Amino acid sequence: MSSSCVFCRIVARDQPADIMHVSDNVVAFRDINPQAPTHIQLVPKEHIESAADLEERHAGMLAELVRAAAHLANAEGIADSGWRLVTNVGPEGGQHVYHLHFHLLGGRQMHWPPG
Ligand code: 5GP
Ligand code: ZN
Repeated sequence: MSSSCVFCRIVARDQPADIMHVSDNVVAFRDINPQAPTHIQLVPKEHIESAADLEERHAGMLAELVRAAAHLANAEGIADSGWRLVTNVGPEGGQHVYHLHFHLLGGRQMHWPPG
């Protein structure tokens, strides 16, 4: 836990967030600046900088996180229309918060390439 990390503070409940889901290793909360009708962040409780820093021992957490995304998509009513799960890595990947997070986006047509 790093007090300088905004997502660590949300996980620790030191900073308010609209928390949607908590499980053993994962927390999900609504994005503060939503880019789609559904825009939820799914993060590990553990501070991991990005997907580039994942290790073999994180396999269970990752499966838990993706299952939570599918569960939340269902709860948001976008399971049938479809959704996107994306993680940005580094400056050119568009990463701004250096605590691993997956954006769950849906409720509108997504485009490809994402730009
Ligand atoms: P990135 O650009 O690193 O892939 O995504 C960071 C995301 O975190 C952005 O979508 C941004 O809106 C969101 N975000 C940044 N600070 C906060 C915050 O304090 N609370 C919440 N709920 N989302 C945040
Ligand atoms: Zn963190």
